[in-house]
Amino acid sequence: MKANVMTAIRQPLENRGVPDPQPGPGQVRIRMRATGVCGTDVHVLNGELPVPVPIILGHEPVGEVDMIGPGVRSFRAGDRVGVSWFQAGCGRCRYCQKKHAKFCAEPKTWISNGGGYADYMIAEAEGCTLLPDNLPWESAAPLFCSGFSAMSAYRAARSQGGDRIAVIGFGGLGHIAVQIAKAMGHEVLVITNSPGKAGDARKMEADEVLVIKDHVGRELQSMGGVDVILSFSPSMKQNSQSIEGLRPGGRFVTTAVSGEPIQADPVSMLFKQTSIIGSAHNDAADIIDVLQLAADGKVKPWLETYPIADLNRVLTRLEEGKVRHRAVVVQG
Ligand SMILES: [Zn+2]
Ligand SMILES: [Zn+2]
Repeated sequence: MKANVMTAIRQPLENRGVPDPQPGPGQVRIRMRATGVCGTDVHVLNGELPVPVPIILGHEPVGEVDMIGPGVRSFRAGDRVGVSWFQAGCGRCRYCQKKHAKFCAEPKTWISNGGGYADYMIAEAEGCTLLPDNLPWESAAPLFCSGFSAMSAYRAARSQGGDRIAVIGFGGLGHIAVQIAKAMGHEVLVITNSPGKAGDARKMEADEVLVIKDHVGRELQSMGGVDVILSFSPSMKQNSQSIEGLRPGGRFVTTAVSGEPIQADPVSMLFKQTSIIGSAHNDAADIIDVLQLAADGKVKPWLETYPIADLNRVLTRLEEGKVRHRAVVVQG
C-alpha cells in the first residue's frame, strides 16, 4: 500500500510503498476514507512529542473495516468506523482492571499500530467506534481527536444547567466545544486574541465574545465572570489570568500541550472553591455522544478538505495558523 511516512523530525512526510498490514488477534484492518489533521501532528513532526521513526501519523482516522483479526466479535467487514488515539490497554494493570485503560502505562495507540495517513491502517477493535450512518466521512474524522477532546472537557467541568461557559482558544477544538455547550443549552462566551475570529464565533452563535486586551481574568470579571472555562489555548499566561474570571465554585479545564506552568492564586482558590481540571480523551461515551450530536446537525465542524496528496501542504498551513478551523484529508 501507499503510506505517508515520517522518517525524521522537521522533514516532510514521505509518500512511499510499504507492505499491506495484516490484523493480529483483537485487531481490524481499515480501508481509510478520511483523516483529520491535528495540531499534535505538528508537535510530533517538530520532535516535541517524541515517537519512534519511521512511523505513519494520523490519529483522526475513519474508514471501512475490510479485514478482521482472530477473536474480534464486535465488528464486521464493511462497518464504518473511526479510531481513537487510545485503542486498548494491557488489560492486566490496576487501571485496566478498573476499565480505565486510558491510564494504562502500556497502551495500544496509533504510535504502536500506525496511523491513518495510508491506504490501510491496523487498529485494536476495542479502539474503534461505529459511525452514525448519515455522518459523512470528512465530518466524522476530526471528531476522533478534536471533538472527543472538546466533549471530554465539557464533561470534565461537571457542567450543569444554567452554567455560563467560556471557551478560550477558538480553533479546531474550541469551535466544536462552543457548539457542544450551545447544544447543551448554555450561555457561551468565546475568548480570543484575534478580532478576526470574533466574527467566526458570532456566526457559531456564541452569546458573547471577549477579544483579550490586557488581562483576560479581569476582563472576564467585568463581564460578570463564568462558571466554567474550557481552555484549548496554549498560552499558559492567558490561561492563568483567566482563572481570576471564574465565579465561586467555578471550574477551569485545561487540554493544551505546553511546557509552561499554569499559575493560580491559592487564596482566591480557597475562598471561591475553584478547581483546575486536566482533560484529554476521557470516556468512550464522549466520542460516541459527540458523533451523535454531529449526526443530528448540532455540531458541525468547520472544515477545509484536501486530497491526501496535499498532506504536507496542509501540515504547513496548520503550523502557520492558517487553517479555519479543522483540516481533513480525503482518501480513496
Ligand atoms: Zn489530535
Ligand atoms: Zn493496563
